[in-house]
Amino acid sequence: MSLEDRQTDRNGRPTRKVDVDGLGKRYESERQTVQALADVNFDVGDGEFVCIVGPSGCGKTTLFRLIAGLEMPTSGAVRLDGTPVEGPGTDRGMVFQEYGLFPWRTVRENVAFGLEEQGVEKTERKRRIREMLDLVGLSDFADAYPKELSGGMKQRVGIARALAVDPELLLMDEPFGAVDAQTRDMLHAELLSIWSETQKTVLFVTHDVEEAVTLSDRVVVMAADPGRVREVVNVDLARPRERTDAAFAEYVEHIRGLIGE
Ligand code: ADP
Ligand code: MG
Repeated sequence: MSLEDRQTDRNGRPTRKVDVDGLGKRYESERQTVQALADVNFDVGDGEFVCIVGPSGCGKTTLFRLIAGLEMPTSGAVRLDGTPVEGPGTDRGMVFQEYGLFPWRTVRENVAFGLEEQGVEKTERKRRIREMLDLVGLSDFADAYPKELSGGMKQRVGIARALAVDPELLLMDEPFGAVDAQTRDMLHAELLSIWSETQKTVLFVTHDVEEAVTLSDRVVVMAADPGRVREVVNVDLARPRERTDAAFAEYVEHIRGLIGE
């Protein structure tokens, strides 16, 4: 199946995998109230790669946590395939900047985690783990422990673990923020290849505008105080994308202008 064959609605647009509808989140404490998000609206089509970009403090992680079901909104809703998100679930695979791997588990055992939770039987579990390690190029490191891996490799384990349970949505919060620039470029290429191979819907949070333009079909550009959507930018560039292309630079400049960088 090619990208063009993906499910579409009556208007030929991809069906909505994620629907963020009038979303608001207020944090209240005795000392202060923070309107982290106010009336955030956007959607993500099935199989789409969407980046959320914006300055520090504009509510990116809050948005990620609401979509993940780790927190509840104070207004509006997040819907996944039309159903309101009311808590975490295996339909959403998560990848964080801090890796979040279990240090006492090998690579294989880390990838196995969600499958064990789901009670997937052993033969199928083994098959799934093999497939995932192959997908992220870590088959030779199945028995290594996280501390023996580079940052890039740890993040590939994180991706394999998130994808092992075959989620509807891959949610990533600044996943490559802690790796060096060269490794990041490599991970971008790998993630795009995993994306086209698995046909997953990806929602990727970053503060790095170039990263967003490198990866996404659309970029949701946010602003702070209160956290809100400034503009949704369609990135109409063929992949793989080159930072040195004039058109690439125009997108970056446009988005940076929106953010005020
Ligand atoms: P980003 O990820 O874009 O940097 P966050 O979502 O982390 O932004 O934070 C958005 C705003 O909400 C910030 O002002 C932050 O201080 C505030 N905030 C985030 N989490 C909490 C919390 N648990 N309690 C109170 N305020 C919070
Ligand atoms: Mg954040």
